Amino acid sequence: MTAERLDGKKIAAEIREEIASKVASFTREGNGTPCLAAILVGEDPASQVYVRNKERACEKSGIIGRTFRLPDSTTQDELLTKIEELNQDQSVHGILVQLPLPKKGNDGKGFDERAVLDAVCPLKDVDAFSPVNVGLLMQGRHRFLPCTPHGIVQLLHRYHLATSGKHVVVIGRSDIVGKPMAMMLAQREGSCGADTANATVTLAHSRTTNLKEICRQADILIAAVGVPEMIRGEMIRPGAVVIDVGINRVGDRLVGDVHFDEASEVASAITPVPGGVGPLTIAMLLHNTLLAAELQNQANAS
Ligand code: NAD
Repeated sequence: MTAERLDGKKIAAEIREEIASKVASFTREGNGTPCLAAILVGEDPASQVYVRNKERACEKSGIIGRTFRLPDSTTQDELLTKIEELNQDQSVHGILVQLPLPKKGNDGKGFDERAVLDAVCPLKDVDAFSPVNVGLLMQGRHRFLPCTPHGIVQLLHRYHLATSGKHVVVIGRSDIVGKPMAMMLAQREGSCGADTANATVTLAHSRTTNLKEICRQADILIAAVGVPEMIRGEMIRPGAVVIDVGINRVGDRLVGDVHFDEASEVASAITPVPGGVGPLTIAMLLHNTLLAAELQNQANAS
């Protein structure tokens, strides 16, 4: 079997077009222009690229993208002050703090990442890290959804790959990808309806024993591990759908967590790396920024 390539780039372009058109209507109706503020602390080269990509994506969708670059020497208090300033700024609708934060501030203490993320106003929390938004997701009445898992749901939906009644194995239990992914697919009703929810979910992680056997039971296998090509062909059930979240640099190549060639021989469909899940993450960030602007608009009107 040669697996169908699930083209995340194409789906992301589709979603971004839809968002651009909604942003244009929102602005035309006199609601102002949605604005995403990104805070970047320090000089991490990968983070600089990510933030620039987000700025560009905003621009193309008609969203204002503002980046606040703070030096490596920024302290926790200074960062919290900046976040509070943006929380209060009515022209800013979404706030994201680019991770990872530098290891040390100039006061000799590291950042308390949890406290920093908790400081973002839940109505502007476009990364969906706030406990309020995580709690709402958990209870099945989501507001913002975390961008990467939401992108995966969109991809499955738009390729008509239903998860309802299927066994989904998610490998990796990070707060950003694995845990919310498992939770979203286990809900009765997802962001794209019941078909891309209602899964029987197994959440595997670094202490899981018999990973190979568990993976082989998956109708849909989602790998978010961060270990290059660790999911081999023999770990995949013939005909399964494979979603590879991993982005790993090996020499001058980017590879996923799945061995693409081996997996393509066994799976029925698979996301490539690059060009799979990655582009969807930014598309869903734009979606959340528009949603944030709509929510704040409603809150101000009432
Ligand atoms: P993380 O490092 O926070 O978590 C990795 C998880 O993998 C942990 O929960 C751990 O328990 C599990 N794990 C580690 N080794 C394992 C093993 N041998 N067997 C089973 N489980 C194991 O990772 P993350 O932030 O979720 O990111 C995972 C990967 O996804 C990384 O490559 C990251 O770059 C990529 N990523 C991609 C996007 C995107 O937009 N495509 C977004 C976020 C993360």
